[in-house]
Amino acid sequence: KWEEFDDAYFQSYSQIGIHEEMIKDHVRTETYRNAIMRHQNLISGKVVMDVGCGTGILSIFCALAGARRVYAIEASDIAVQASEVVKANNLSEKIIVIHERVEKVSIQEKVDVIISEWMGYMLLYESMLSSVIFARDNWLKQGGLILPSHATLYMAPVTHSERYCDSIDFWRDVYGIDMSVMLPLAKQCAFEEPSIETISAENVLTWPFVVKFVDCYTVTARELESITTKYNFTSMLRAPLHGFAFWFDAEFNGPSTFPANNNLLSGSSTSDLYSNVYNNQRRQKAKSDQVLVLSTAPEDEPTHWQQTILYLYEPIEVIQDQTIEGSITLSQSRENPRFLNIHLEYSSGGRSFIKESIMR
Ligand code: SAH
Repeated sequence: KWEEFDDAYFQSYSQIGIHEEMIKDHVRTETYRNAIMRHQNLISGKVVMDVGCGTGILSIFCALAGARRVYAIEASDIAVQASEVVKANNLSEKIIVIHERVEKVSIQEKVDVIISEWMGYMLLYESMLSSVIFARDNWLKQGGLILPSHATLYMAPVTHSERYCDSIDFWRDVYGIDMSVMLPLAKQCAFEEPSIETISAENVLTWPFVVKFVDCYTVTARELESITTKYNFTSMLRAPLHGFAFWFDAEFNGPSTFPANNNLLSGSSTSDLYSNVYNNQRRQKAKSDQVLVLSTAPEDEPTHWQQTILYLYEPIEVIQDQTIEGSITLSQSRENPRFLNIHLEYSSGGRSFIKESIMR
């Protein structure tokens, strides 16, 4: 199902720029390094698999943390450089770079730890998590460690007049000329697809809602094919609603320190249980328990993931305490399973509509 599409995908990862961007994202890279050091007792002397090692950076962190052996798996041609980096750092004895899709790899032993940086825009774009699931089901020992262990995708309504003015209202008066006839095309071009940009906490109208909680120890490829969640927001402000922002965080827990709300989390097929209060209690708890979290939220330090914004074609004036409800469906595209179809249903103040979009 995947292979016919993957040439282009792995081609993109053979470029240096994408790896440079990820490595320079110090929030990302340092959180991974901290997570490795924090779990050093489970890594030292053990066998690790790095799913999609890129330049080899996480494999090297693991080797420096004392891993006995690291299988650094990388399908794109950046594997050639990864291998050279490993050699140049005298780690060839410990780190075995395998230039292959993880789905095709065959090694002589099972591994104690799987580490991977698989998260895409909106968490699920690129669908790389299914390769980590494959590695887990085929190569991880019972009771092994997976880093990251959990991930959560959030959404929240946002206001962003500047962005709207910049791309849309701009056409109303161009050097004194009325170019309003451009508006429909401008809206289509700016807002048809989700937009990757950094917003701030001031753009967000209320607490976020959990779209999907992923437990990397138990998640199945099947359940990622299509995710539907009903949402329900109460705006805390009067403001024009321009769209919805999506972001995620990833947690680095050991295999036994599963979040305390286990039964709540796994028992819910819809996300109705994730009231805003509950959601935020969970975040607070994670912070106070010093769970290591890689956050891409608007209130936290920006990362290369930024936030993903799904704009509405027309802003909607919402008043304080107005309820906004509907549903969001994220599904792998039939055109290419690495693409994400986004189906948004919206209803508030007597208006309702549907927006379909695709992230290519
Ligand atoms: N671990 C590196 C790179 C992360 S980007 C770092 O943290 O900097 C994800 C990498 O996984 C890309 O280089 C991509 O080519 C690779 N990848 C994605 N799916 C894969 C698969 N099924 N098998 C092997 N490599 C894969």
